Amino acid sequence: MISEQVLEEPRLRGQAMWRGARGQCPSCGEKQLFRAYLKVSDDCPSCGLNLSGHQADDAPPYFTIFIVGHIIVPVALVVEKLYTPPLYVHALVFSLLAVLASLISLPVVKGAVVGLQWALRLHGFAATEKVDAQVDKAVEKS
Ligand SMILES: [Zn+2]
Repeated sequence: MISEQVLEEPRLRGQAMWRGARGQCPSCGEKQLFRAYLKVSDDCPSCGLNLSGHQADDAPPYFTIFIVGHIIVPVALVVEKLYTPPLYVHALVFSLLAVLASLISLPVVKGAVVGLQWALRLHGFAATEKVDAQVDKAVEKS
């Protein structure tokens, strides 16, 4: 009974994505989402949420490329229009900026994707809770 209520409990997508983007557990908000640069922790030490079931896959790099491209290209065009620097300056400056912006934003985007997956009960987050609910039901019956 309690487990079904937990399963039906709404999860705030915006809050979960915001917490994930800041490297926090999407459930409790403790700063334990990543154990390395892009390695998601297996479990949250604070609330015990199993984070190993996430399947962010290629979504974070895709969104990162999309975001960084939409920032770097207009800036490069404005710089070209205003200052007309030599091409090697463009290549050097904007390549470095693109790499730096990507490295900075990739964990942020990945955290947000993991948070969204948790909020929508996708992939391992849904299966884990269903298994947990079944275990709880079995314990209640016995
Ligand atoms: Zn947690």
